Amino acid sequence: MRGYFSDVVGLEPGTEYIFYHPRFFPGYFWIFPMAGGWVNAGYGMAEKYRKKSGVPLNVLFERFRQEHPVVREMMARAKPESDLGGGMVPFSAKKQRWAGDGWLLTGDAASLVDPVSGDGILYAVRSGLQAGLAVRNGRQHEYSGRLEELFWGRMKNQRKVMYLVTRMPGIISLASLLGRYPWFRRALMKGIW
Ligand SMILES: Cc1cc2nc3c(=O)[nH]c(=O)nc-3n(C[C@H](O)[C@H](O)[C@H](O)COP(=O)(O)OP(=O)(O)OC[C@H]3O[C@@H](n4cnc5c(N)ncnc54)[C@H](O)[C@@H]3O)c2cc1C
Repeated sequence: MRGYFSDVVGLEPGTEYIFYHPRFFPGYFWIFPMAGGWVNAGYGMAEKYRKKSGVPLNVLFERFRQEHPVVREMMARAKPESDLGGGMVPFSAKKQRWAGDGWLLTGDAASLVDPVSGDGILYAVRSGLQAGLAVRNGRQHEYSGRLEELFWGRMKNQRKVMYLVTRMPGIISLASLLGRYPWFRRALMKGIW
């Protein structure tokens, strides 16, 4: 679930912010600075855990915003520029058929969303490109294999990371401490984000 806001303070150019909070875990709050001084701010949680909490996502968004000390400060005078809106994001969960007689699946329809970061745009664009090439070249039969080759190894790896982090949230605190070292940040960005 996300909304657009102006007047958010403490933003550093070129930095995207991801926040965790023990009371709102597993889930995360993000603040993505945009051109023109607005931000895209949102909160997401796997539906399985959201259901267990019994609280609607828009309420969790507001609570997180109030209870996380850094988010509270950054958004203390934030002005909403849109309603909160959202949707389901189909995390890559298991191997599936991506193509059949007369059809090819891409993006969300193919569940190509990174289970750790929730990133789906990159995979939607890249799978769309592959689908276009397959059709143009009359090679639809190779499409599933191509997706497997391009994305499956990474999705499988990310699912393992998610599994581990959900069971041992202390890993996030450890990663935050190690985050002061550039070599660790580089490794994390390359390996996970
Ligand atoms: C709140 C939220 C935040 C997100 N944040 C990020 C992020 O920060 N980074 C990131 O990488 N990903 C993010 N995602 C995930 C990302 O938005 C999706 O994975 C990505 O947009 C999938 O692209 P797509 O083309 O497969 O589907 P979509 O972007 O959903 O596009 C499908 C299009 O098809 C149209 N459509 C549907 N049915 C029909 C029909 N019958 N006829 C014609 N048109 C139809 C829809 O209107 C839509 O425009 C986020 C998702 C949500 C919900």
